[in-house]
Amino acid sequence: MVKIFWFRKDLRLDDNRALSEFIKGIKSDDKFLFIYIKNNNSFRFFGEKRIQFLNECLLDLKNKLNEKGFNLHIFNGNSLSVFNQIIDADSIVYANKQYEPYCIERDSKISDFLISKSSELKLYADSTVFEPNKMFKADGTPYTIFTPFKNKFFTLLNDTLLRESKLNFKNINPLAEQKFKEALNFEIKSADLSGFSGGRTSALKSLSAFCRKGIEEYNSQRDYPSADSTSKLSPHIHFGTVSVRECFSAAFKKLNGSGKKSEILTWINELIWREFYYHITFNFPHVINGSFKKVYDKLNWTDNDALFNKWCEGKTGFPIVDAGMRQLNTEGWMHNRLRMITAMFLTKDLFINWKKGEKYFAGNLIDLDFASNNGGWQWSASTGCDAQPYFRIFNPYLQSEKFDKYGDYIRKYVPELKDVPPKYIHKPDEMTADLQKKYSVIIGKDYPYPIVEHKTAKEFSLSKFKLIHGK
Ligand SMILES: Cc1cc2nc3c(=O)[nH]c(=O)nc-3n(C[C@H](O)[C@H](O)[C@H](O)COP(=O)(O)OP(=O)(O)OC[C@H]3O[C@@H](n4cnc5c(N)ncnc54)[C@H](O)[C@@H]3O)c2cc1C
Repeated sequence: MVKIFWFRKDLRLDDNRALSEFIKGIKSDDKFLFIYIKNNNSFRFFGEKRIQFLNECLLDLKNKLNEKGFNLHIFNGNSLSVFNQIIDADSIVYANKQYEPYCIERDSKISDFLISKSSELKLYADSTVFEPNKMFKADGTPYTIFTPFKNKFFTLLNDTLLRESKLNFKNINPLAEQKFKEALNFEIKSADLSGFSGGRTSALKSLSAFCRKGIEEYNSQRDYPSADSTSKLSPHIHFGTVSVRECFSAAFKKLNGSGKKSEILTWINELIWREFYYHITFNFPHVINGSFKKVYDKLNWTDNDALFNKWCEGKTGFPIVDAGMRQLNTEGWMHNRLRMITAMFLTKDLFINWKKGEKYFAGNLIDLDFASNNGGWQWSASTGCDAQPYFRIFNPYLQSEKFDKYGDYIRKYVPELKDVPPKYIHKPDEMTADLQKKYSVIIGKDYPYPIVEHKTAKEFSLSKFKLIHGK
């Protein structure tokens, strides 16, 4: 029998549920192999930085397997055609479950194919603490509000759920590995990922650095983008170079005995938001194509490419929005507060369909994760579950004054404004011509005037939402 381990969003050799079962399942007369499938069809949607990060994760994984005497076989193509190429009868493919509707559909096709070859696909739960199909309300329906979901999470949480799975590679013999000529010549060019680097070593380093210091200031600091105080673990959690159990466990370990429990609990809460959005995506798969609250599919969004392009480029004339978009464009990552501000600006100030913003983020984020991206966009657009109500619209100027008071974050990403003092940094168009000269930025020439007037734009959006509610 041939046993195949299929790495997907679990690019690590420790605490990996399916991998642990795979290793235990290998008998002395079995052949086995480790594979990863690069599907160019999905890669089309990925930004360059995300691909670079993923490649670094794969190289690290491959090196770690090599150290143990094994190989990572990387195949190019659609997964069904790859299995068609490598499967003989009597094989078992092991993998961790994925919960996005399109992944479920793919796995179901692969499972049917394997059955037709007298083979089998075995899937294990790994990427969330609670499987999205396992935690329901008392009436048996899925949660749609975060707080009761979180309360249930804490009620059901126990040590077993967070226990790391042990892997003993000594049980398997490298000589029994099935050899395939690798489909992919695997070369990685070095590229600057602005502080991110793929792979398990880097993931563990970030987790322990954050737990040593940042986590005890998380609640107080997390909303200030210039403080750079969040864990920046999102790409690692997404690609599984660190497991969610390892993140929760590290946080709970720190919690015991810490005098700063509420700071740490806020971080734990964020990890639960991620679980919540997986729960939503799995139980309400229509969110893939439209609003969680279907009534909002009737919103008559404005279709204005010129305004959309200015938002993408970070040239809206709203410094805080522009700084966020430029951070995304240059680093492939954006601080959470900025994701909310820029998403709210696109949907409420420009009244442009959140699907366009979701897609733009998807094409540029290193940490793109369907559930969290979709959840975050629908929260900001007020079309989602437990979302910001449509009538509570962020004022970008107040957000800017509150969370980037002195303008340090803005100045870092919008260098045209580098000499502008805090008094004008949030609204540089309010400077007189003399001040503009003094601070080396001519509005309308070096930096744009605001592309909309916030108050008018807000009223316009509200009127559109009210129409839906028959007001
Ligand atoms: C419009 C929008 C789009 C988003 N798109 C993504 C995305 O594609 N991928 C992604 O991982 N997150 C996304 N988020 C959530 C959040 O912004 C990022 O997870 C966070 O900024 C990552 O930084 P960090 O790792 O330093 O997070 P930390 O603040 O250190 O949080 C730790 C971890 O908790 C999870 N987390 C934190 N906040 C959230 C949240 N609001 N929702 C779900 N999970 C959360 C992430 O896994 C994160 O790595 C989005 C939020 C919004 C508003």
